[in-house]
Amino acid sequence: MNFKAELVGAFGDPIAENPTGVMQEAAFAAARLNWRYLMLNVQADALPDAIAGAKAFGMRGFNLTIPHKVAVIDYLDEVSPSVEVIGAVNTVTNNSGRLIGDNTDGKGFMRGLHDAAFYPTGKHVVLLGAGGAARAAAAELLLAGVAKLLVVNRSAARGTSMVGDLHAKTNGPIAFEAWQGTFCVPADTDLLVNATSIGLHPDVDEQPDVDLSEADPAMLVCDVVINPPETRFLRAAKEQGFPVLDGLTMLVYQGVIAFQLWTGRDPDPSVMRAAIREVLGS
Ligand code: NDP
Repeated sequence: MNFKAELVGAFGDPIAENPTGVMQEAAFAAARLNWRYLMLNVQADALPDAIAGAKAFGMRGFNLTIPHKVAVIDYLDEVSPSVEVIGAVNTVTNNSGRLIGDNTDGKGFMRGLHDAAFYPTGKHVVLLGAGGAARAAAAELLLAGVAKLLVVNRSAARGTSMVGDLHAKTNGPIAFEAWQGTFCVPADTDLLVNATSIGLHPDVDEQPDVDLSEADPAMLVCDVVINPPETRFLRAAKEQGFPVLDGLTMLVYQGVIAFQLWTGRDPDPSVMRAAIREVLGS
């Protein structure tokens, strides 16, 4: 008999409304693994103690959210190549006391694209936003060999800083355009991504100010916003006949990758998606 559970969890502040634990616990139960995912409120200055605690408890790994994604890097033994580019970690694996950092946000996004039969190599992409989610997606798109990545952001300072940094690290074909008024999506765009928080609950009636009238009808339209899963932006794109991909898919796949890193097993993504949909009440 073995009554000892394996521990993973999330460190963040705030953490109470983060649905990741519900998704991972559902996946552990479906896989019949005696693992627990703890939602741990860790304030910024308590991160070193939390990491020492994780090591003392033999936690198998943990996710990081605001405000720890960058600060955690100082405490890790190794980071993945995409972390070198993104500069932020959302998943740590405890490999017999060695802490290894990865960023599964961008990789989750890429797996969603793959599901939608979209293969980014050689493609033209327009990415709205220059925050954490945009940066993770941009890094993976550049590493995958897109032909053109145009970042469109409201704050020019933030946009140019992200684009300059990613260009310096990857030498990839990334450019910036300031978002002033309506942005007209160019006809040669293969993929349009809303990586801003526009449309996030409770501002569900908001949508990015973009004009799709010149866009190719085969252009894939993605949103990273999770709540609601079908944003006004995605609904409008769908109604205009564009194929769409929601933010829930990215969230589920980043969790799938974390589960694989920690347990070495493949979870059932449909169980994880159903668990998230239930907590989001949709
Ligand atoms: P950040 O705060 O780091 O970035 C927010 C971005 O949205 C910035 O580019 C900001 O522009 C832009 N923005 C916000 N409001 C407006 C507005 N009214 N008009 C124009 N631009 C606006 O947030 P994150 O990158 O961390 O998160 C963005 C979204 O992605 C959130 O909804 C989050 O929940 C979601 N997310 C989803 C994940 C998933 O797995 N599906 C994973 C991670 C995040 P500016 O720079 O000008 O302020």
